[in-house]
Amino acid sequence: MVKYKHILLATDFSEGMPNVCAKAHELAKQMGAKLSIIHVVEPLPGYGYAFIGSAEIEIQLVEEAKKQVAELSKEYKVSGKDQYVEIGPTKIEINRVAEENGVDLIVVGSHGRHGLGALLGSTANAVIQSAQCDVLTVRIKE
Ligand code: AMP
Repeated sequence: MVKYKHILLATDFSEGMPNVCAKAHELAKQMGAKLSIIHVVEPLPGYGYAFIGSAEIEIQLVEEAKKQVAELSKEYKVSGKDQYVEIGPTKIEINRVAEENGVDLIVVGSHGRHGLGALLGSTANAVIQSAQCDVLTVRIKE
């Protein structure tokens, strides 16, 4: 059987994620692989939030994301050093963290978009296109 050593689960905390998370966790358990979790906060356009301050909102989003990743990590016994909350373009950050940490499988959800949605692309497609390792897409049922 093929064995992966380090699986990176990318989560956006959306409704369909529990199934994606459970599959990544199960795979890691079966293969004896390390499981890491990442969430990426996309930088906010400064102009739209000028009156509050986009930097402050970003800090709040990061703090909230850290809590959510920590909660998920508790459920799947992922240690603190294997929890990542990054700021930047999602696909770039997921692939950067994967490359810098010897990840050999990235797990993302996929909505299986059609039509315009497919043309515009998805995070799953974007990650696949630039990943240096294997990517597993878990279908999210609408
Ligand atoms: P999307 O194409 O945006 O619907 O996202 C597909 C999948 O990409 C999600 O199910 C997650 O696994 C991953 N993903 C999307 N956005 C993020 C994010 N901000 N941080 C980490 N993973 C993400």
